[in-house]
Amino acid sequence: MELKEFVRDIPDFPKKGVIYKDITPLLLAPKAVNQALEQFLENIGQQPIDKVVGIESRGFFFATLLAQRLDAGFIPVRKPGKLPASTHAQEYELEYGSDTLEIHKDAIQPGDKVLLHDDVLATGGTAAATCKLIEKCGGEIVLCNFLIELDFLRGQEQLKACTVHSLMHY
Ligand code: AMP
Repeated sequence: MELKEFVRDIPDFPKKGVIYKDITPLLLAPKAVNQALEQFLENIGQQPIDKVVGIESRGFFFATLLAQRLDAGFIPVRKPGKLPASTHAQEYELEYGSDTLEIHKDAIQPGDKVLLHDDVLATGGTAAATCKLIEKCGGEIVLCNFLIELDFLRGQEQLKACTVHSLMHY
């Protein structure tokens, strides 16, 4: 099964010039979800993982599935003001302006081996900010994985210190 058949291009969403990679057709297809999950797990292999961090909100789908299969804890990284307990915050630059992500301070114990997951790696700003949050908590990033990587935006350059794995490249 070709996973790319389950990704829909939506031109000019959420703004003109962006081709949005819509993964909702994939989420509608249990066999495709299972194939993606197995491919992630095969790549992770026997590396021990204590926590899986998913980035709001489309990172949550596979991060929770991966955490369950890896017998690891799931940690949501969220937009400001959404997490109820004490948080670390990390600001990052966008094309116009900046944004912030937060993590619960007590979600990671120092030395925890962490897998970072999101749906799409584009410019890498979101994932790089999340790496900083994991490091603020004392976590050790084992791997960053993504369903989709937009190679032409060179997101990996923001993640030089990490191993990066993506199931689909465009
Ligand atoms: P970036 O920080 O530029 O790597 O952007 C990554 C974040 O934005 C991820 O959380 C994605 O869900 C979202 N994103 C960026 N570009 C796209 C795209 N073309 N299609 C779908 N989601 C995208």
